[in-house]
Amino acid sequence: MSNSNILIFTDLDGSLLNHNNFDFKEIKDFILSCIGKGIKIVPNTSKTHKEINIFLDKLGQKLPFVCENGAAIHNVDLLHPEINSKDSSLIFSRSLSEILEVFKNNIPIEFQKKCIFVKDMSPKDQMEVLGLNDKYLPYALNREYSMPLIFEGSKDNINEFTTLLKTNGMKLHEGGRVLNICDNCSKGKAMKTLIKMLNDNFDLKTHTIVVGDSPNDISMLNSCDQPCVIPLPGKRNLIELKDHKIIRATKSAPEGWEEVVRASLKKINFDLEG
Ligand SMILES: [Mg+2]
Repeated sequence: MSNSNILIFTDLDGSLLNHNNFDFKEIKDFILSCIGKGIKIVPNTSKTHKEINIFLDKLGQKLPFVCENGAAIHNVDLLHPEINSKDSSLIFSRSLSEILEVFKNNIPIEFQKKCIFVKDMSPKDQMEVLGLNDKYLPYALNREYSMPLIFEGSKDNINEFTTLLKTNGMKLHEGGRVLNICDNCSKGKAMKTLIKMLNDNFDLKTHTIVVGDSPNDISMLNSCDQPCVIPLPGKRNLIELKDHKIIRATKSAPEGWEEVVRASLKKINFDLEG
């Protein structure tokens, strides 16, 4: 297999970045060595375009990436220079104002009342809920396609709310810290669309590795060649996934990311050192 046909779609928070401080310095050299070997790394996250750019600056690389739970893919030209896109981006979502409009008009008021949107919280609460300091908070709040929230209700309420959103063409995603109302997109859908474009138009036979830690990663974990799960500190997450192919890290992020990527590459006899 050509190295450039190995694609790693990876969640960031809790999967590649430390869940508490968002650091990844322990594995930075390993990530760079993967890129140096021609492996394509595609962050696929609920983070915003601006937040991902901060990560890419720290990494010192320009990478293709999926933002806001599958709402858009940017820098697709890095995967193939002739891919059909507008400004190297593919957009799968309606705008935030359109989504908010549908939410206000179509979701029963008793459910709307249970939604505490992050955008409406005090800066102190926003920082606490998102685990960010005041330097990074504005980038997380600068959303184009999704509305993060805390839902004040039971598990049954959440299930009912999820169904209501679905009926209205939207999705509720559960990340490591908050819920997110999005258009009818998901990390898995964006990934599959991209892979299909690469396969259909350029006959690329890809091998996809996915790394995730939370329910909003299930859609991509379920549609790849090699799913990998990273444990959150002190938590056994995604135990409902029974696929025998799954590689589960013993360490949390960032070290767990290196652990599962090494194991995934070993499984296909990919030599990182040679
Ligand atoms: Mg995560």
